[in-house]
Amino acid sequence: MTRLPALLLAALCPAVFAATPAKPLLVIHGGAGVERATMTPEVEAEVRKALTLALTRGHAELAAGKPALDAVTAAITTLEDDPNFNAGKGAVFTHDGTNELDASIMDGATRRAGAIAGVHRVRNPITLARAVMEQSRHVMMVGDGAEAFAKSVGVTLVDPSYFRTERRWEQLQKALREERAGQASTDLETAKHFGTVGAVALDRAGKLAAGTSTGGMTNKRYGRVGDSPVIGAGTWADANCAVSGTGWGEFYLRTAAAHTICTRMGLLKESPTKAGEAVINGEVPALGGDGGAIVLGADGRFAMPFNTEGMYRGWIGADGVAHVAIYPDERAP
Ligand code: ASP
Repeated sequence: MTRLPALLLAALCPAVFAATPAKPLLVIHGGAGVERATMTPEVEAEVRKALTLALTRGHAELAAGKPALDAVTAAITTLEDDPNFNAGKGAVFTHDGTNELDASIMDGATRRAGAIAGVHRVRNPITLARAVMEQSRHVMMVGDGAEAFAKSVGVTLVDPSYFRTERRWEQLQKALREERAGQASTDLETAKHFGTVGAVALDRAGKLAAGTSTGGMTNKRYGRVGDSPVIGAGTWADANCAVSGTGWGEFYLRTAAAHTICTRMGLLKESPTKAGEAVINGEVPALGGDGGAIVLGADGRFAMPFNTEGMYRGWIGADGVAHVAIYPDERAP
């Protein structure tokens, strides 16, 4: 069909065009704190396999015509269950040797949102964030109250020991040694971030969703909460844009990173690449922070900016082929 008749037809029967299904797309990250020096071939292979599985599971939801929220939930629960990521099992340890988990989710079309912070016993924090969104009148719940709510709605609780892995325990011991040796002048300098997980999706109806789940930062203390469960900082979705961030949370909070990226796309009409770069390689490092993000527009364009050595990431489109990358030199979309 030539352009003019197509435009005429669109004007006369907008419903025909409005009903045209969007091409489903899922983009995920598994954290921006990747360090080449500490990476082993075994961990790299496991991470690539896990990212592929998360993409495949999320894509199956979209291919079945399910909403973007289902794809985001499926991808994130897969990564939460994998001990290689700092979310769910394998979460980093606090200064006191506990695991405190944070998560959030947002539905772009309705701007409903749910978030939880500082929970110790919720096996899949993203499912509790979603329950807060769908089964309560609130947006954010923390600590014991959030766990009481989890119990009341049947979200799976586990013994806190479930989250423990030796690798994360060793990371805490190293951070504590550095702290004792005075190698860091502030609490935050020994609080390292690794492996937070997130997903953004576009479903067949053209609707977007975003979600993020994390154990926060190694050696965090005093009930510290980062950006991941804060709507607008670590997670944001609206009708045009969906973002999940990963990085030094204090700086994502101070730049309202996820919301700022979407606002730039909405008001300044910037592309996901331009808006993402402006925040992740502009505002965040200008304040002293680091990290990355995944950014998806309602037109299916997406970007995965980061300013660290690597970021676990991947995407899968309508063809169902999973693409996974870690370092900057790997193929971009
Ligand atoms: N943003 C997370 C936090 O600050 C950490 C991370 O992304 O790895 O809690």
